[in-house]
Amino acid sequence: MSETKKTLQLEVITPDAVVLQEKVDFIIARALDGDIGILPGHTAMISALDIQEFSYDQDGTRHILAVSAGFLEVHDDVVTILTPAAERPTDIDLSRANSAKDRAEHRLQDKKDSDIDVARAELALKRALCRIHVVNHYRGQ
Ligand code: ATP
Repeated sequence: MSETKKTLQLEVITPDAVVLQEKVDFIIARALDGDIGILPGHTAMISALDIQEFSYDQDGTRHILAVSAGFLEVHDDVVTILTPAAERPTDIDLSRANSAKDRAEHRLQDKKDSDIDVARAELALKRALCRIHVVNHYRGQ
């Protein structure tokens, strides 16, 4: 009798939508304290995510998402990502991301901005660069 392959249930949830609900084989997340690789049988954990690409393997294919921070929870082979925004490469509007990048860069060049605006612009720049990276990575496959 063949053994059933163990998988993870991956759920990526934003305030607007369930972006992903899939059975996957392996996950690589970029947490604030470093990369995390998750296989079936991983111990329970909660981690804060960075604004970065998020990858998962499914039937031998690597997939990538742009994830804008949030939290990752692992429990009983269910991996839940709660994040303000997550996009698949095909859902990313590249010209919108490039405009957001230009806008943030101009704000960062303008030293008259307050500290709070600088922090906000840095996060906007990071989100835009992450989206651009995810589209470019996907196109290069
Ligand atoms: P923008 O200034 O272009 O709105 P942003 O980084 O401020 O960019 P977010 O606040 O992170 O945008 O996201 C708001 C919503 O818009 C989310 O649902 C997110 O998935 C979506 N979104 C943002 N940028 C893009 C993009 N380039 N392509 C597709 N969806 C995007």
